[in-house]
Amino acid sequence: MKILFCASEIFPFAKTGGLADVAGTLPKALNHHVEAMAVMPLYGFMERSKFKKEVLAFCVILGGISYDIEIFSTDNKGVKTYFISAPLLSATKSLYGDENGDYANNDLRFGIFCAAVVELALALKVDILHLNDWHSALCSLFIKERSLALKTIFTIHNLAYQGLFEVNALSRLGIDASYFDMHGLEFHGKINFLKAGIAYSDRVVTVSPQYAKEILTKHFGCGLDGFLLFHSEKLSGILNGLDDEFFNPKTDAALSFPYESKTLAIKNENKKVLLKSTKLKDPRTPLFVIISRLVHQKGFDLLLGSLKPLLQKKLNLLILGDGESEYRGALQSIANSHDNFEFIYGYDENFSHQIYASADFLLMPSLFEPCGLTQMIAMRYGTIPIVHDVGGLHDSVHEGSAVCGQGFVFKKPTKKSLLDAIDRALKLRKETAAMQKINIFNMNSDFSFDASALKYINLYKEILL
Ligand code: ADP
Repeated sequence: MKILFCASEIFPFAKTGGLADVAGTLPKALNHHVEAMAVMPLYGFMERSKFKKEVLAFCVILGGISYDIEIFSTDNKGVKTYFISAPLLSATKSLYGDENGDYANNDLRFGIFCAAVVELALALKVDILHLNDWHSALCSLFIKERSLALKTIFTIHNLAYQGLFEVNALSRLGIDASYFDMHGLEFHGKINFLKAGIAYSDRVVTVSPQYAKEILTKHFGCGLDGFLLFHSEKLSGILNGLDDEFFNPKTDAALSFPYESKTLAIKNENKKVLLKSTKLKDPRTPLFVIISRLVHQKGFDLLLGSLKPLLQKKLNLLILGDGESEYRGALQSIANSHDNFEFIYGYDENFSHQIYASADFLLMPSLFEPCGLTQMIAMRYGTIPIVHDVGGLHDSVHEGSAVCGQGFVFKKPTKKSLLDAIDRALKLRKETAAMQKINIFNMNSDFSFDASALKYINLYKEILL
C-alpha cells in the first residue's frame, strides 16, 4: 500500500506548531507497515539547494491560468519527502503570513499546492492521499471534480482554523459554482476550505478521540458542529504521538545534562543552568512553565485572570511563547513587576527542550485542545503536566489513576479550578518520593506514534476494501 502524507508544515523543514511534529513523525511510524511518503510546500525561506530536483515537472491550471510546478525531494529519516515549488506558493518568506496578517493570496497559494499534490499523487501511483488541515483540504474536492479513483483521509488538527476566503476565490481557483452551497464550500457567505476536506474525503479523523466527540457540540464545533454531525459516520479520533527518538532526554543534544528515568536527579542540573539565564534564581523553588503559542485557545485569558494569586504562591513561573501582541504586552508587564515570573517572547526549539528538561510542572490551561503534544513532551522529560480536562488533554493526562500519562487535571476552565490544581501540584512537590514515582512512570510510558499508526493503517485498509 502506498500513502502520500500531505501537510503544510513538516518538521524539521518548517514548523509553527504540533502539525509539523506530527507530519514529521507519523509517516515514519506508518513506514513500518506501508510505503509512506510525504509532501509539503517549498517555502521561500527554505534552501532549495539542500534538496534534489526531480525530473518530474508539470503545470496546473486554475481559473484558466497555468502555474509551473517543480518538484524537489529529500530523505527525512527514511521517509521520502517531496516539496512543491510553485509561483506564489514559494514566493513568501513565511508559511502563512507576516506582521500584516495572513497573506491575501493564501487561497490561490494553497489551491495551487493542492492541485499539484493531486498530480504528484497520480504520478507516484499512490493508493491513499492523507490530507491534513485546511491547507490540503481542496485536494479531495479536486479529486471528486475529476472523478479520480484516489482515496483520501482528512485529519483535522484544529477545527478553529478553517481557511476562510471571499467568494471570488471560486473563479480564481476555477472551482464550479455548484460547490458553493451548504453541503459544499459555503460558510456564512464565504468559502471554507476545511469543509471540502470534511465533505469529500473518504474518512475524517481528529487528533484525539475526545475532540472527535467535542466538535459535534455547539460549544466546540466552531460553527461546523451540524455539518460534522451530518458526516459523523466517517468521523473518528486517533490520538497523536511523539517522535520518541527526537524527544528523548537521554540523547537530546539541546540539554547540558542528558538524563533518563534511572538518573532523574540529573534533571536538576539542567534547571540550574536554565535559571542562570533568567532572573529566577533559587532552583529549590518549584518551577512551573508554559511553552505555547500566545492565542486565546491556549487559555491565556484564564491565566492572566489568575496570575495575581498564582504568583503569590511559593513558586517560579517561566513562559516561552510567541503570538498575539496583546498577550505579549500583558504578560511582559506582569513579569516586569514580579521576581518569580520570567516571560520570554519567541519561538526557540532548543530552548523549549531545555525548559522541558528543567521544569517541575507544565501548565496547559487550554480552553480547547485537539490533541496537544506539549503535555506528552513534558511527561517524557519528567515534568508533570497540569491540564484543563478537554480534548486530547483528557485522553492523555490522568489524575489519580495509574494509566499512561499522569498529572493534574482541572475540570473547569475557572480561576478556582486552576489554582486548586496548582495547590495539589505544590503539595506533591513536597512529597519527593511520590513525585519521583510519577515522573519515572511517565518517562517509561509509551507516547510514541506506534499504536496510533496501526489505527491509521486499519482505516486505510477499510477505505481500500
Ligand atoms: P499547537 O500545535 O496547538 O501549537 P501542540 O501542543 O500540539 O500545540 O504542539 C506545540 C509544539 O510546538 C510543541 O512541539 C511545542 O514544544 C512547540 N512550541 C510551542 N510554542 C513554542 C515556542 N514558543 N518555542 C518553541 N517551541 C514551541
